[in-house]
Amino acid sequence: MGIPIYTYDAIVVGAGLAGCAAARELQVAGKKVAVITKLHPLRSHSGAAQGGINAALSDKDSVELHEFDTVKGSDYLADQDAVEFMCKNAPETIRWAERMGAAFSRSADGKIAQRPFGGQSSPRACYAKDRTGLTLLQTIYEQAFRSGVKFWDEWYVSDIIYKDGKVSGVVAFNIRDMQVAIFNAKSVMFATGGYARSYKINSNAHANTGDGLSIVARHGLPLEDMEFVQFHPSGLSGNGVLISEAARGEGGRLFNSLGERFMEKYAPNAMELASRDVVSRAILNEIREGRGVGPRKDAVYIDVTHLGKDLIMERLPELRDLALTFLGLDMIKEPILISATAHYSMGGIPVNIAGNVRKNNTEFVEGFYAAGECSCVSVHGANRLGANSVLEALLFGRYVGKTMVAEIDSIPLRPATVEDAATALKEIAFVLNNNGSETIPALREELQQCMTANAGAFRTGETLSIASAKIKELRDRFQHIRIKDKSKVFNTEMQEAIEFGHMLDYSAFIVESAIERKESRGAHYREDYLARDDENFLKHTMAYMDNEGNISLDYMDVVLGKHELKARNY
Ligand SMILES: Cc1cc2nc3c(=O)[nH]c(=O)nc-3n(C[C@H](O)[C@H](O)[C@H](O)COP(=O)(O)OP(=O)(O)OC[C@H]3O[C@@H](n4cnc5c(N)ncnc54)[C@H](O)[C@@H]3O)c2cc1C
Repeated sequence: MGIPIYTYDAIVVGAGLAGCAAARELQVAGKKVAVITKLHPLRSHSGAAQGGINAALSDKDSVELHEFDTVKGSDYLADQDAVEFMCKNAPETIRWAERMGAAFSRSADGKIAQRPFGGQSSPRACYAKDRTGLTLLQTIYEQAFRSGVKFWDEWYVSDIIYKDGKVSGVVAFNIRDMQVAIFNAKSVMFATGGYARSYKINSNAHANTGDGLSIVARHGLPLEDMEFVQFHPSGLSGNGVLISEAARGEGGRLFNSLGERFMEKYAPNAMELASRDVVSRAILNEIREGRGVGPRKDAVYIDVTHLGKDLIMERLPELRDLALTFLGLDMIKEPILISATAHYSMGGIPVNIAGNVRKNNTEFVEGFYAAGECSCVSVHGANRLGANSVLEALLFGRYVGKTMVAEIDSIPLRPATVEDAATALKEIAFVLNNNGSETIPALREELQQCMTANAGAFRTGETLSIASAKIKELRDRFQHIRIKDKSKVFNTEMQEAIEFGHMLDYSAFIVESAIERKESRGAHYREDYLARDDENFLKHTMAYMDNEGNISLDYMDVVLGKHELKARNY
């Protein structure tokens, strides 16, 4: 098979909320744009978002309060200029989504309904029952499609074309038949989503393997704040499938084996609605100290029975379904079993507010943009507030699309050649033909177990060194893999091997960045350094990988602003 070269003005990788919103902006501005996505767009993880999307809409709320909650939630690591931009433009983003056709749930007076979420001073999360992400994704995908965006569904992007400080396209293969192709463009945007799949217990879709981050990092470009992985308080016991914060937002209560509403000890004011890092650690601490429930004593109860059948069926029908399907427990009649689950990546590809990807602390990569969960802008700092990331994906996706429109005419098209596919072809040939004895499912299981045990919600220098050594070992063993399926038709075994290579790379970033951050801040909780250390660590980690997979660290200033540093209590 030859290697075709397709030419567009712009390429967007990823068809979640960030990618679809950006592509639509480009297309309606008259640019020729293609979205490349390894999943059908509607299967992107954005569609799994349940609980809501934040915006200060009500008279009792304000943009300033939204900013304050976000900055406090971030444990002061968020860049306040980016937070201000997001919170200021959130109400307009909701109105825009509504104009696009998204049907939000309504209150009795006809206004968009808003529910309380953790760490928020006011009920602020707009929602569509507990299917908020699906409603938004269906709407924005439909509008992007209708505007004429070309979608390349089930194409897997495996490399960027990056030379002389400029990105001029991507290399991808068709998952159906392994046809490799080059997509040449003036500008490229990454909207490839999150990476919690490197943890054994996680809430993420199987596809969330952080491909975009490693693809970028393999070219020597930095990744920012990778040590900050969010553990959500309520994953179903045993498999981590998410029970949205909406369950606590609507009034759900947490209990331990002694029947104690234990959040009284950890966050006496906010209780179950403290920020996620605080509630997750409280749950894990109860379990560690022997007050867990369930057959393995590795869970706590969340109880919503007092809300009554009508409210549960009206506002939490999907959550009830999930608990019935996976645990056989009916939330209407009884408490269900939950524990913390790896959920969200605060870190990612560093970008400025306009979405330009950073080459280092001061320079940017020409023609390269990112938005959504794969990026780090940084509005979440060390811990994200619930319902701020659907907002981030939609809002920054759309605005980065606008930046691309504004900048595209000044970027020349640098023609690609078939040689640009060399690295991608080498990777495919290695995975298909390597004749070792290691298998991907076994290696992946070891990585996931190790990350959950050693780089999870609690970590120390010692556990992180174990993880670091394990990743090096797995990297060596990866050189000796063998896959059974040698076919060219939907070869998911090959794809999983390539994805595992990405998981290894970005997991190394998580661990090495965490080792050097000798403090506790937000989701990064070091049991050997319990305090937040603003003097030494009020800074973003910028990590770089060399060709041997070694990681070196640099740091970048946090953009401070009107919200002054304070101790964080809930
Ligand atoms: C269960 C769950 C519930 C959540 N609930 C909420 C909530 O209520 N509120 C909230 O604010 N946030 C929530 N979040 C987080 C939020 O949904 C995500 O952060 C956000 O939707 C990410 O959007 P995105 O566009 O960046 O990426 P995604 O929607 O994850 O899309 C990523 C896209 O990248 C593509 N892709 C990836 N790699 C490749 C590759 N190599 N080649 C080609 N394509 C590729 C995929 O095909 C996909 O289209 C939730 C997350 C989960 C997991």
